Amino acid sequence: MADQMERTVNMEFIPAKTIISGYSEGNLWFGDNYNMNIYKGCCHGCIYCDSRSECYRIDDFDQVRAKDNALALIARELRSKRRKGVVGTGAMSDPYNLYEKEYRLTRGALELIDANGFGASIATKSDLVTRDIDVLSSIKTHSPVLVKITVTTADDELCRKVEPRAPVASRRFSAIRRLAAGGIFTGILLMPVLPFIEDNEENVVSIVRLAGEAGARFIYPSFGVTLRQNQREWYYSKLDEHFPGLRQKYVKQFGNAYECPSPKAKELWQVFRAECDRLGILHEMEDIIEVYRKPYRINQLSLF
Ligand code: SF4
Repeated sequence: MADQMERTVNMEFIPAKTIISGYSEGNLWFGDNYNMNIYKGCCHGCIYCDSRSECYRIDDFDQVRAKDNALALIARELRSKRRKGVVGTGAMSDPYNLYEKEYRLTRGALELIDANGFGASIATKSDLVTRDIDVLSSIKTHSPVLVKITVTTADDELCRKVEPRAPVASRRFSAIRRLAAGGIFTGILLMPVLPFIEDNEENVVSIVRLAGEAGARFIYPSFGVTLRQNQREWYYSKLDEHFPGLRQKYVKQFGNAYECPSPKAKELWQVFRAECDRLGILHEMEDIIEVYRKPYRINQLSLF
């Protein structure tokens, strides 16, 4: 099989006025204070990707584009921020897409985050994030650092169908192991859990156990998927390709609803919670935020 991280076309650059958002206090999403999007579009090809929804107006979503002069812009923006805080990245596209290996823009941004005294919170599906353990460790000496690796199935074969160009699940668990061994507060985003595909007890228990073995500190789940506009069409066309007959099941169960929870969500929550509690893995957002920020509380009072 061809290397999933193989590049086929060159990356485009697009003009941008800003890369980092304004300050937000008390953000319940992992306590992020700023949002940073260096790249637009993503090449991982996840069949359920929300970022390809019409409302975001990103044409040709699979084509990765980077913002022009990104690092100069980020340096300027960080210097002009009046409040320090945690800079989150990975909400709209994967900051460790296959171009990042060569262009090193996410790494450059982390170095600037470090130099300017900010914290970092990263969401990715790529083990390339382990390349930057040295920078993350340096940030950690003064500010909170958190890495979320998205895992939706423990099965590499299924992974190749639902997240075809991202590193497979086993590589992501290895990444968690390396990050945790490097002292980085790391956990799993267990979302989406695709109804009728991934929403079974065996999958959930496997993920929690592998996470525990790898040293994950937290798992944050959502047992279901959200679907809207052209994202739904894309998803259904992929269901037809890989899971014949499932489109009809979705239409019958969810109609045009945005939220499509697993019919087994309640049972899965119980199993998930019990397994996490047994292994000492955090799963409540308040606890995750509290634990990873706690060592910096004094600094936060004076600086953040
Ligand atoms: S990694 Fe994230 S942004 Fe990229 S295709 Fe998958 S879901 Fe979309």
